[in-house]
Amino acid sequence: MTLYVCGPTVYDLPHIGNARPAVVFDVLVRLLRHAFRQVLYVRNFTDVDDKINAAAASSGVPIRTITERTIAAYQAHMRSLQVMPPDREPRVTEHIGDIQDLINQLLRRGHAYEAAGHVLFEVTSFASYGLLSGRSPEAMRAGARVEVAPFKRNPMDFVLWKPSSPELPGWESPWGRGRPGWHVECTAMIRRHLGFPIDIHGGGQDLIFPHHENEIAQGCAATGLPYCHTWMHNSFVTVAVQKMSKSLGNVVLVRDLLQQTPGEAIRLALLASHYRQPLDWNQERLEQAKRTLTTFYRALTSADPGDTHRISADESGPDSIVLEALSASLLASGQLLGLLQQEPHQALAALHQAHRQATPSEVRLSKETIAELHLRRQRARQASEFQLADQLRRQLIEAGVPVADGKASRCSTSPTPANP
Ligand SMILES: [Zn+2]
Repeated sequence: MTLYVCGPTVYDLPHIGNARPAVVFDVLVRLLRHAFRQVLYVRNFTDVDDKINAAAASSGVPIRTITERTIAAYQAHMRSLQVMPPDREPRVTEHIGDIQDLINQLLRRGHAYEAAGHVLFEVTSFASYGLLSGRSPEAMRAGARVEVAPFKRNPMDFVLWKPSSPELPGWESPWGRGRPGWHVECTAMIRRHLGFPIDIHGGGQDLIFPHHENEIAQGCAATGLPYCHTWMHNSFVTVAVQKMSKSLGNVVLVRDLLQQTPGEAIRLALLASHYRQPLDWNQERLEQAKRTLTTFYRALTSADPGDTHRISADESGPDSIVLEALSASLLASGQLLGLLQQEPHQALAALHQAHRQATPSEVRLSKETIAELHLRRQRARQASEFQLADQLRRQLIEAGVPVADGKASRCSTSPTPANP
């Protein structure tokens, strides 16, 4: 099973919109690995792009420094969202030879032409162009917002190779020193790492046209082989029902979210809508995700086999075997979604910490009150007053105090008093 997902252009820190495909396709890969013995997942980094050049020029920082530090930040932030790294993360700069081979093949087969130092794909040479997006040629022309260049035979033709001035990144080629156009990199990397046809190609909905349409045209025209069996596109993320943009000042960076909330809650919030539906990012969505995780982690702590006293002594309560089975089933489902894999007490403590940050005015409990609640709870458990013990436990957890019982206390920190 082969899967390719278009990765980020690395010139700026990832925002919540960049995180959505990473999380969505991470869930898909987990599911595929559950169902198939061999899964090969490739996601690229676009490290040659005019936006990167512009970022380097405006900040006075070398291009390589910008791409390296953006890739490192992207990988770290996605790890925090419990996104597993793909099997391979190829970069454009490592595949210039593969890209040039593909362009040469397109030239030889009459699907591309040279003009004014550029190499262009001739769209009219590929009969099924537009099949994926289902657009009419007029709609494609409007949607592509292609730059009108006098050297193009047809306005829809797109760049495979373009000349680089001495200060820009460039590689020697039969067509002069230059750099690849954007679309050609994915096709060349898919061919190198997975081979045609691939099983699943993923990416954001905005990539259907022209990027994926162009990928198909390049791959099929160069080799005569089918390109991909199944396309999957995630929908976009808005912020307070508006498109995210620097000019509106509403770009939500993953880094900033991680400073106030556990990555797992961000992940769940991103998964709470169907992947093909637009997702509006707002505080309530995040709060809801935190509440849901708290409920599940609490359920896991209450099914803790360390709490045998409660389970065996409470005749009316669920059987310990049933609880353990339910807990195992919840954990297995969580594994597929990349959720609930933390030690429950620690996860609850992190969620409460985030809650405290979000609501600084909340009344906290004093050290004395916490000690008193612990003592009362201990006595209630010894006296088999489990309802009271549970109520005290909830009170402590809601105040952000980790509660550890039996075996579980080995892996959780001792109860930490909240600020008086
Ligand atoms: Zn791509």
